[in-house]
Amino acid sequence: MELEDKSIIITGASSGIGAAAAALFAGEGARLILGARRSAELEAIASKINAANGKAVFLAGDVKEAGYADALVDLALTEFGRLDGAFNNAGILGGMEPIPDMEIGNWNDVISVNLTAAFLAAKAQIPAMAKAGGGSIVFTSSFVGFSNAGMPGMGAYAASKSGLNGLVQSLAAEHAAEGIRVNALLPGGTITPAGGEGNPDVMAFIAGLHPMKRMADAKEIAQAALFLLSDRSSFMTGSPMIADGGMSIRLT
Ligand code: NAP
Repeated sequence: MELEDKSIIITGASSGIGAAAAALFAGEGARLILGARRSAELEAIASKINAANGKAVFLAGDVKEAGYADALVDLALTEFGRLDGAFNNAGILGGMEPIPDMEIGNWNDVISVNLTAAFLAAKAQIPAMAKAGGGSIVFTSSFVGFSNAGMPGMGAYAASKSGLNGLVQSLAAEHAAEGIRVNALLPGGTITPAGGEGNPDVMAFIAGLHPMKRMADAKEIAQAALFLLSDRSSFMTGSPMIADGGMSIRLT
């Protein structure tokens, strides 16, 4: 029980990595607050956890809205009395074009969901964690925008995830003395709807980029998030933790 009785927010919990994390964390004893826009998917995931004697509540909303980050924290405090952790994982790929062809609307959407929402989440979560005497915040970043993974057509996404890595370092430095750890998790290609799930050509291309010649299962990334949220990573803060099948050290 790596997360016994810890009250943890997961965003992007309706699908992919977030849904895998919800199942994994619930099995490790966490009390979960699940967020994403699709209510029916969240309800189904929470019901399954509760039917198996886990503890999960959910609230549908858009991470771009400041009020939503606050509402998720309020729900944690109302339901579980405290907030110990957050897996801020919601994200979008957005349209993939070279920058001269990219609409400003696409740029703004990607930056809002992947970066500005992280700022809003931290603003809402840190005071609650400080009251609880500490906590752990994990943001899902990406191999894109880090090391040598310069992927064409992904300028907005790469900028958002690189920006997120910088935000994580600042937050970690600002709140280390309060016992709040803040880390980024950098997955490689992962089998989820955003990762090309159901499209064998796309998945084969992405798998081939990795030295391990495969994509991650969403549960493998959730396990890395579990480590960062648990006390086993108690001396880690400000880290860009890579779980990318060797993508960052590939030869070409
Ligand atoms: P996914 O299956 O498409 O899941 C994305 C999640 O984010 C969904 O639950 C979605 O829920 C939620 N979301 C998107 N926009 C939102 C918004 N405006 N407000 C609230 N929730 C929102 O993709 P995934 O691969 O699991 O992605 C999870 C994270 O991993 C993302 O940050 C992504 O950038 C990152 N990542 C993925 C890969 C990969 O290869 N799959 C690699 C590196 C990093 P709703 O649609 O219900 O809102």
